[in-house]
Amino acid sequence: MSVAFSHWRCGRDYQIVDAGRLEDVTLFVSGNSRAIRVSRDLGERLRAGLEAMNAIEAAEWNLLADNGIVSEANIPVVREARISDGANLAINVNLTSVCNLGCTYCFADGGDYGRISGKLEGDIADDIFRFVQDRLHGEESVRFEFFGGEPLLNFERISAMCARAEAVSNETGIKFIHRISTNLTVLPEGALELFARHGFIVSVSIDGCRETHDRNRPTKGGRGSWDRIIANCRAVRAAGDDITLVARMTVMGGDPGMKENVRALWDMNLFDYFQIYPGVVPRSIGQALDAKNGNFGQGTMAADFLDQLAEFVDGYSDLFNPDNRFRGVLEYERIADMVLRGKAALSFCSGGRNYFTFSPDHSIMPCHRLVGDTALQSGDSRTGIDATTLHDWRMPIDDHPVCSGCWIRYICGGGCKQENLQATGSLNSPSAEGCRHQIQLVENVVGMLAAQDDSYRMRDRSQLDDLFVSCGRPVMLNFRNDAESPPLQHFQPL
Ligand code: SF4
Ligand code: SF4
Repeated sequence: MSVAFSHWRCGRDYQIVDAGRLEDVTLFVSGNSRAIRVSRDLGERLRAGLEAMNAIEAAEWNLLADNGIVSEANIPVVREARISDGANLAINVNLTSVCNLGCTYCFADGGDYGRISGKLEGDIADDIFRFVQDRLHGEESVRFEFFGGEPLLNFERISAMCARAEAVSNETGIKFIHRISTNLTVLPEGALELFARHGFIVSVSIDGCRETHDRNRPTKGGRGSWDRIIANCRAVRAAGDDITLVARMTVMGGDPGMKENVRALWDMNLFDYFQIYPGVVPRSIGQALDAKNGNFGQGTMAADFLDQLAEFVDGYSDLFNPDNRFRGVLEYERIADMVLRGKAALSFCSGGRNYFTFSPDHSIMPCHRLVGDTALQSGDSRTGIDATTLHDWRMPIDDHPVCSGCWIRYICGGGCKQENLQATGSLNSPSAEGCRHQIQLVENVVGMLAAQDDSYRMRDRSQLDDLFVSCGRPVMLNFRNDAESPPLQHFQPL
């Protein structure tokens, strides 16, 4: 019997994900982001190819294809998307070069990226509002990402921009979402009221328990910062439930591990969401860190990070508890949302598409981590974007020589370009370590989804679009058929 999609190959068009502790395995369909439970025996044969199915299995497979339950719905979605599709416009407002911490893994060279100095003044704020109002109409949304250095060291500008955003919103209907990435070692007078009034998303850089955090994120004078930050987190939490508090963790490996560090923060019941990233550093910093703690080897991320990730995702669902305000790890929930609802990533992030960083020197950059790298500048706040600089940021995934052959391409979208640049010297040459991380992340989350029941799978994930998940990864529904599958013996779509 001929099988539908006979050209598909395991590892490119689908993958068999084995969560280990389950009786079954999961068939992940790249073409429409669908997860389907199959027996271990069928999964093993599918690793060799679709032609390894027996006649009954092939008949069921063809039925799934006829009903659009397995399909290639992602291809036209990604190919035909506009640059502005899939994510809100986002402006990173780089408020100041000054930072009061001396983090071991800092990519900004102590706040100023080694090249930029000074505070963001009113003339750049004028440029930002002009940029926004030229692009948006009616009730469209823009998210301001207040950033630095430490952005609260330029609190007057934040406050002034929020007041102006409110006036512009009243006048035009444009919706402004305010998010701040802060170390929260300082809390200027008026900040709590501002956060509450505008329903801020407050993303706090905190790496876990006191021991881990103070090792990674000391003050410039070498003292710990954890106690002060936690006291300020408590104050923010008490300022109102409309504030979304996010713990933004960087994992540098070693002990205590990621699981213990998340638990330490979770136990405080302060944070709505977590974001968990590996610390990615140039090899020279990795080697220096290795001399201290032995975690890095020759890599750009901690050697034990992936093991810690797998262990953490395995116990992830235990963190959802009615007595705790925890609503998820943003990146995991985004992947779960794409798999369960049928969505495709248009790119890894919105950088250079619908997300730009404005800095005190008037530069517009496609990525906040590349501030100061004039070779990659995408414009000037006085004159706007030069679209000719953005080709590398807008390559469709199916045109990419490497990513087009990767089974997670419509979930990953092509990797972090800044990490690619750091690892390979090219924005679009994937970092091997970055790929291993992204692939394992998808495997771990798909395996976890297969093990969960509807109480987890049906959670409301509508807030994700406002939360700057994976630097605003643009995602779109692929409109696959999500109707109930016909009753089948060998395939159980999630
Ligand atoms: S960056 Fe790596 S993991 Fe992501 S789609 Fe490309 S090859 Fe796959
Ligand atoms: S995902 Fe990477 S390239 Fe994209 S904006 Fe974030 S740091 Fe920059």
